[in-house]
Amino acid sequence: MALRISCNTQISTSPQAKVDSRSKKCLQNVKSIVNNVGLPSMSSSPLEALKRGNWVKLICGASFEDVVDIRNLSLVYTLAGVDCIDCAADASVVNAVNEGIEIARDIINLRRPWLMISVNDDKDLHFRKAEFDPEDCPADCSRPCVNVCPANAISFQENTAPEYSFDIQIPRDGVITERCYGCGRCFPVCPYDKIREVTYIRDATTTSDLMKSDDVDAIEIHTSGRQTTTFRELWTALGDSVKYMKLIAVSLPNGGDSTISTMNEIFSTMEPNLQSFNLWQLDGRPMSGDIGRGATKETIAFAVQMANARDRPPGFLQLAGGTNAHTVDGLKREGLFQTTIVTENSDYATSRTGSADSSQALIGGVAYGGYARKIVGKALRGMQSQHGVAACIEDHPQHLLLALEEALALVRPFKCR
Ligand code: SF4
Ligand code: SF4
Repeated sequence: MALRISCNTQISTSPQAKVDSRSKKCLQNVKSIVNNVGLPSMSSSPLEALKRGNWVKLICGASFEDVVDIRNLSLVYTLAGVDCIDCAADASVVNAVNEGIEIARDIINLRRPWLMISVNDDKDLHFRKAEFDPEDCPADCSRPCVNVCPANAISFQENTAPEYSFDIQIPRDGVITERCYGCGRCFPVCPYDKIREVTYIRDATTTSDLMKSDDVDAIEIHTSGRQTTTFRELWTALGDSVKYMKLIAVSLPNGGDSTISTMNEIFSTMEPNLQSFNLWQLDGRPMSGDIGRGATKETIAFAVQMANARDRPPGFLQLAGGTNAHTVDGLKREGLFQTTIVTENSDYATSRTGSADSSQALIGGVAYGGYARKIVGKALRGMQSQHGVAACIEDHPQHLLLALEEALALVRPFKCR
């Protein structure tokens, strides 16, 4: 299907479309919206998006494993034109993402976003779960943990065990492990100090097997940046599975003056068997995009720091950690939005693209996590309250329409100038 390439088309959100209760009509509206918006990503590859500086990645969450939500989120954001969907390195989660992508492509013939799995080389905020025994909670506790959780991952509602179609067990009380993504907001609010942090490291052998499957296009390795020994150990353990990847991403926090030397050490570890493109995910303020406008400042500051660094290693730069609807404006203020440069590493670029064109965007793109899940989550929760928690969003096109409008409102500004 030929899609019109235009960023100027207004999204049709007429009241008439919203209130139309007929599913067929709603599904047609979904197709019309996607066609009329005609985002560049619908006809260009994820790699081209990185080079142009309009790459958008959805972060499902390195620890988020609610496969029903992940499937529906992947479907909605594929329709909205994301270039990549990043998820936990777990086979059932990967299956859920792929199912969402393929159903979106059944609705309208879009190009496929890359699927990226996230792993860690050491203890990391993104790879932890909250845990407590609800039996230990005092009966008179006002349960502030429930209200502070952005993932609806703490429940005390008995007799509401959801009817999941996937084979997972959801506890009725306490932390719903699959939904907890480790943001840590519940830890300090418990007046009785009942909540524990459980950290874990993804198994390298399982990860390596996943990378060799046709289902996975890219990997992201989260590293603390404090030292590079653990990165080297993981890279060695992954072995030749890295050659199956289209993109290798390294996610790291801002380590100040030592960041560039850490990046160079990591790159020199990867370089001997790096056969794909690589990307640096600049994790400004981890897992905070849903908090508000101020959350994006740290990732913008990180971007400015990296853009001005002369001796950084090759690789695309992509923002994360605190990214939200204010991130585009922040980049524009700093003159970094879709700003193209001629790379100093032209040999590297040429060897990987087969093209002599070494121009690329200074900032390749952005990853949206908690904020992206929050805005579409409202539509998902609305659907689930009417149709059950296992509802598939394509079966309820009026909810799909609402979710898609939210997703496009986030993705489109980054895709267009
Ligand atoms: S760590 Fe975050 S996501 Fe997990 S239960 Fe606590 S508040 Fe919810
Ligand atoms: S705040 Fe602490 S004590 Fe209260 S319900 Fe939550 S975990 Fe239990």
